[in-house]
Amino acid sequence: EVLIETKNLDKIYGTGEDSVLALKDINLEIRRGEFVCVLGPSGCGKSTLLKTIAGYIEATNGQCLMQGEEIEGPDWHRGVVFQSSTLYPWMSVKDNVEFGPRMRNLPEDEIKEIQEYFLEEVNLSGFGDKATFELSGGMKQRVALARVLANNPQVILMDEPFGALDALTRNDMQKLIHNIWKENNSTIFFITHDVDEALSLATRVVVMSKRPGRIIREFNVDFTDTLF
Ligand code: ADP
Ligand code: ADP
Repeated sequence: EVLIETKNLDKIYGTGEDSVLALKDINLEIRRGEFVCVLGPSGCGKSTLLKTIAGYIEATNGQCLMQGEEIEGPDWHRGVVFQSSTLYPWMSVKDNVEFGPRMRNLPEDEIKEIQEYFLEEVNLSGFGDKATFELSGGMKQRVALARVLANNPQVILMDEPFGALDALTRNDMQKLIHNIWKENNSTIFFITHDVDEALSLATRVVVMSKRPGRIIREFNVDFTDTLF
């Protein structure tokens, strides 16, 4: 089942002499259950593609569809995790994770249940009452992930989520996201410029190239499980 589809997507920032062609003719499908990694050098348009799918920015030409319907603005069905995700600093870890379910007016006992379940999923049980500024970088990214998971998204969009972490923490985070993807049958769209990361996580790798931001290659990876 195709969840997300882009058709002949172009994105041009600005106008005239200063314009930048960031995406050129992107045709991409994300199917339910896939772990798609987009690999490419800095500036090739990866973030632009993710933000278009997220609904944060509008494409210049072409279409971006979710289950056949045009994507118009962000919503809960597409959860986003950035490299340094902004947590609500005045809120505890718990409150950050409960924020989405509370916005959706779920009953209090269900909100608590969701929060406890997903903090456990990211190995942060017992940290619920901490302030987010007390946490390490890796822990913050795990809170950001739990906060997204708590909204039960159809697809999780991740933009270099482990890029700012040290090598050991990054390795732990890769195992964690792999396990979460597997256990929950999640669909993940994951941006990285790290070839090893893409090959160890992805079921499919999409390679982009600079000037202008095109997809130059796509291939399936079928040895994911042997690496973890
Ligand atoms: P990547 O994520 O692969 O590093 P980006 O999508 O961030 O690539 O950027 C693609 C190109 O578009 C780059 O040349 C970048 O400088 C440019 N760009 C990105 N965002 C903007 C913006 N808001 N305004 C103008 N140019 C932008
Ligand atoms: P990344 O390489 O991780 O995509 P960048 O450092 O290229 O991130 O960009 C960080 C932010 O700045 C992004 O939101 C991007 O859209 C924006 N940006 C990048 N290039 C430009 C630009 N030339 N003008 C305006 N905004 C830009």
